[in-house]
Amino acid sequence: MGDDSVDGLRETASAARRDDRRHVLHSWSSHGSLEPVVVTGAQGVHFSDEEGRRWLDFSSQLVNVNVGHQHPKLVAAIKAQADTLCTIAPYHANEATSEAARLIAEVAPGDLNRVFFTNGGAEAVENAIRMARLHTGRHKVLTAYRSYHGATTGAITASGDPRRWPSEPGAPGFARFWGPYPYRSAFHSANAQEEGERALAHLADTLMVEGPHTIAAVLLESVVGGNGILVPPDGYLQGVRALCDTHGIVMIADEVMAGFGRCGEWFAVDRWNVVPDLITFAKGVNSGYVPLGGVIMSDAIAETFATRAYPGGLTYAGHPLACAAAVACIGIYKDEGLIERTRVLGETVFGPALQAMQQRHPSVGEVRGLGGFWAIELVRDRATREPLVPFNASGADNAPMTDFANACKKQGLWPFVAGNRVHVVPPLVIEEATLREGLSIIDEALAAADRHCTG
Ligand code: PMP
Repeated sequence: MGDDSVDGLRETASAARRDDRRHVLHSWSSHGSLEPVVVTGAQGVHFSDEEGRRWLDFSSQLVNVNVGHQHPKLVAAIKAQADTLCTIAPYHANEATSEAARLIAEVAPGDLNRVFFTNGGAEAVENAIRMARLHTGRHKVLTAYRSYHGATTGAITASGDPRRWPSEPGAPGFARFWGPYPYRSAFHSANAQEEGERALAHLADTLMVEGPHTIAAVLLESVVGGNGILVPPDGYLQGVRALCDTHGIVMIADEVMAGFGRCGEWFAVDRWNVVPDLITFAKGVNSGYVPLGGVIMSDAIAETFATRAYPGGLTYAGHPLACAAAVACIGIYKDEGLIERTRVLGETVFGPALQAMQQRHPSVGEVRGLGGFWAIELVRDRATREPLVPFNASGADNAPMTDFANACKKQGLWPFVAGNRVHVVPPLVIEEATLREGLSIIDEALAAADRHCTG
């Protein structure tokens, strides 16, 4: 957009909108076409904008603000830390970082006792890959097609979804496999159990043809998030663990989105009692109040770096403000019983309400999820399962999803729409009555999707 048109906004738009138009390039967007909502404040499960609208946040801001916006204990912890120590180089220790690491190790499964801090999810994935390579002395990393791991060079190469296309050929040393997805099986499975078994057989075959002795890591999202909230069939993650054990391969569970309570467990792998060698985390660790991510490692991997220096680091690693926020956030999960509450809400409210919508709306092909992590997959025709919008649709092709999103927005609900799916992911602190209100807005808005059905 040229400066003339930006100046044209001067009379009507706020300074924030004007400066944004002129100076900001937003993620995954062209600045000539994006019309961002200017957010002026937020509280609990709502945020508000400069036009005085109050939005019910059913996105948790990229599945991030698990404890809601402006939680007073989290804000107070950040302020208190700011008064004491804002920043320090990562070769020093400090109270906030040490305590955050201890608390994370306490809630992490098995012998995952040591934490390497980063500023977010992509850096966590980059470092987990590097640790696996150094630990095994091998180079290759296997990742799933339906996965997202971040937007830095290694992490975007590791990602299986189309977001990687513009960055190809990317980094060397990656190979891909299909993970389980019963509704759209790559293996023509008849049911979830068969899908899990066939996906494991396929992974075993992939390992063989890639050469197990060359493979440092299998990297996968415990529950696939951005690509559809795909809950693995029982037995799948245990099977991946066993394959990794057989071949001396590091199992990396990416829990950047699924971890820290979203699935009604501290970590999604807890649901199946699986202990990976490395877990990557970000988002929910401190509800995103200050950027933070990291890798939690097993004792065996930590041992690799007991005498040999780990050749990587970040100026802001273990940032005191971010870690103070993590300490407070983990405290909130415990004090408010949010993990258990989320598990119960998944079973008693999210699941039944969404399944009832499936009965009512021909556009709902499948609902799936657990805890506070749910997807409604929309189709044109239930019989053929033709997606409501084509794979990777944009612009006019995406109109049915835009219609649905606009119908939600009309009722004050901010939805999370991805591909042909609605991800139902409000903050975990949401009151049951508010959750039901939001779900009924989605229910009504699905009529806009139904209108595009051909079946
Ligand atoms: N892994 C997963 C599973 C994610 O969902 C994301 C982000 N949505 C990332 C990694 C990347 O995290 P970040 O955007 O903080 O780099």
